[in-house]
Amino acid sequence: MTTTEKTATAPAPGRTPDGAPLLEVRDLHVEFHTRDGVARAVNGVNYSVSAGETLAVLGESGSGKSVTAQAIMGILDMPPGRIPRGEILFHGQDMLTMSKEARRKIRGQKIAMIFQDALSALNPVLSVGYQLGEMFRVHQGLGRKEARARAVELMERVRIPAARERVGDYPHQFSGGMRQRIMIAMALALEPDLIIADEPTTALDVTVQAQVMELLAELQREYRMGLILITHDLGVVADVADKIAVMYAGRIVETAPVHELYRRPAHPYTRGLLDSIPRLDRKGQELYAIKGLPPNLTRIPDGCAFHPRCPRAQDVCRTDVPPLHQVTEPDGGELPGRGSACHFWKETIHG
Ligand code: SF4
Repeated sequence: MTTTEKTATAPAPGRTPDGAPLLEVRDLHVEFHTRDGVARAVNGVNYSVSAGETLAVLGESGSGKSVTAQAIMGILDMPPGRIPRGEILFHGQDMLTMSKEARRKIRGQKIAMIFQDALSALNPVLSVGYQLGEMFRVHQGLGRKEARARAVELMERVRIPAARERVGDYPHQFSGGMRQRIMIAMALALEPDLIIADEPTTALDVTVQAQVMELLAELQREYRMGLILITHDLGVVADVADKIAVMYAGRIVETAPVHELYRRPAHPYTRGLLDSIPRLDRKGQELYAIKGLPPNLTRIPDGCAFHPRCPRAQDVCRTDVPPLHQVTEPDGGELPGRGSACHFWKETIHG
């Protein structure tokens, strides 16, 4: 199948139609046994992504966003990692109860991952053409010549200039932005249903970041894939994501359609993240920073884990864990897809 054929809107047999969840993470818990005790990295995460949809998972380092992604990919180190509870449904089937072989096939062909650091993800002693071609040789049994031709096609697809001449070059001969395009090409090679991109542009400068993100969004739309975009940077998701899940200390603290979240955050942590983005209309003013640091995951605070850093914290926040409330308009009107794990979400969004 060519890439153009894949753009057809009717789902192929066995594929999930648009709108139906392609991937559903349900009540996922991940913990790590360390010398300091049990680090509770993921504590009851729920999210889903459909075909043709982009979910951005946002949070500081240690929030559990990457550990959740590694659990989905089946690449967690176990031990010390452990998944005591939860389900990860892909096309309705729980990957956590599948055989290793079935899981490996999904990982290779149906779900692909793009990592932050292309230089360490690519093999430095093999040409990019060889590494791209290997996907077709191993998974589709193509011969060397055909695989190389597909590699060139993919490099052109991700707009690497002079792809035919550069197919024999090694990773270090490409710029950071071009290497990240090669990572995207590798992820696309087998036309997966879902791509997980973990901080795909963090190592790049701002202009290149925007170009790579634009390319990723364009290809995601064209291939009608699900995309989970993991980032600590709210600035990079506004134009590409459909919805956002904000994570803190292993839990989802806010969910919202992307533009709703920017317009009216319903959790003080999200508000703090938004206030920390540099803005032209606040030139000359000191940039806001959320006070303190995320908690040690072996000693997550009682009640709301964010309370030691929260400007709105009250007594109840120190004792009671806030559930993910359904966020509504002041008159009770529905706000689909909106949730906030804050006792004072009404004051935060409408106050
Ligand atoms: Fe702040 Fe309390 Fe809301 Fe937590 S529950 S975010 S501490 S106001």
